[in-house]
Amino acid sequence: MRAYNFSAGPATLPTEVLTQVREELLDWQGKGLSVMELSHRSSEFMQILAMAEQDLREVLGVPDNYRVIFCQEGASAHWDMIPLNLLQGRSRADYIETGYWSYRAIEEGRRYCQVNIAASNRSDQFCAIPAQNDWRLDPEAAYVHYCSNETIDGLEFNWIPDTGKVPLVVDASSHFLSRPMPVERFGMIYAGAQKNIGPAGLSLVIIRDDLLHPPVPGTPFLMSYHDQVLANSMLNTPPTFTIWVASLVFQWIKRQGGLTAMAAVNQRKSAVLYDALDRSGFYRTTVKRGDRSRMNIPFHLRDPALDETFLREADARHLLQLRGHRVVGGMRASLYNAMPMEGVLALIEFLQEFESRHG
Ligand code: PMP
Repeated sequence: MRAYNFSAGPATLPTEVLTQVREELLDWQGKGLSVMELSHRSSEFMQILAMAEQDLREVLGVPDNYRVIFCQEGASAHWDMIPLNLLQGRSRADYIETGYWSYRAIEEGRRYCQVNIAASNRSDQFCAIPAQNDWRLDPEAAYVHYCSNETIDGLEFNWIPDTGKVPLVVDASSHFLSRPMPVERFGMIYAGAQKNIGPAGLSLVIIRDDLLHPPVPGTPFLMSYHDQVLANSMLNTPPTFTIWVASLVFQWIKRQGGLTAMAAVNQRKSAVLYDALDRSGFYRTTVKRGDRSRMNIPFHLRDPALDETFLREADARHLLQLRGHRVVGGMRASLYNAMPMEGVLALIEFLQEFESRHG
């Protein structure tokens, strides 16, 4: 029986990509060595990096006035790097609070500047995204930060905030490359790799040229976007293996028909699962319909005493890593690009069967 991995990240990768990795692991392109053993300064690796960037630009439609950085740091590091690099003498920045990850960015941002929480759904138990009409944006803010898909709370923006001249900065970690994205609407986009990009150990930054300036004096050298761009993401040894796997994922997305095709499949996958959950009185979800994430679907059993039995039985059926994040409990099914529709249907069959035995 095939296993399906619903982890929020590190997450399932396309089987085709993993097979390719296995085939080339010991002997990359007939060179007699592993890609892991290539010097990052070799012409071979430089070519891998250039191809990865080119494929990403093509898949996402990155305009020429944006730079791409392959960062060694996880997504969390950008909560510090963003203020260090983007404040540029200003003392205030706007943050939107919509759940766990946007809050973590806020906490970190407070080390560097006066954080204005321009909108928050905390009093709403993080169940709905605050409408833009209710945002109190500061025209003097250095940037506006938000998280476009809350991996833990299961909310996803299906619209792009309008912040006028103030650069919009987005943590797109958990739905990056799941659908087309108008890059030109953003000052900066960042995303950790371990969801739709590849294995852990990498994050991507896409930043508009005019935002690249030397950071606050005293900033650790690896944390300068400006210098990373000048060094072509090689201020130090980059995560070469992870970048190679990411490049294979970008090529896989192209073969699937690009982001428009990805978006259509992702829409169908999440719709059938939400539909199954909505039709049942045994399971419940909490996020408002229009704000539900297509990638991360948290749900609860009405009787939490059954949680462990549910997880044990799911595991026995090779439906893996469905446990919800510790801060919200319950279950969570992550349906990233690499999760096939068959995996979602297998989960629905199990949900219904479990309900019929325990409901
Ligand atoms: N932002 C979001 C939306 C995330 O989902 C995560 C991790 N799951 C992070 C930031 C933190 O990423 P990392 O562990 O790579 O620092």
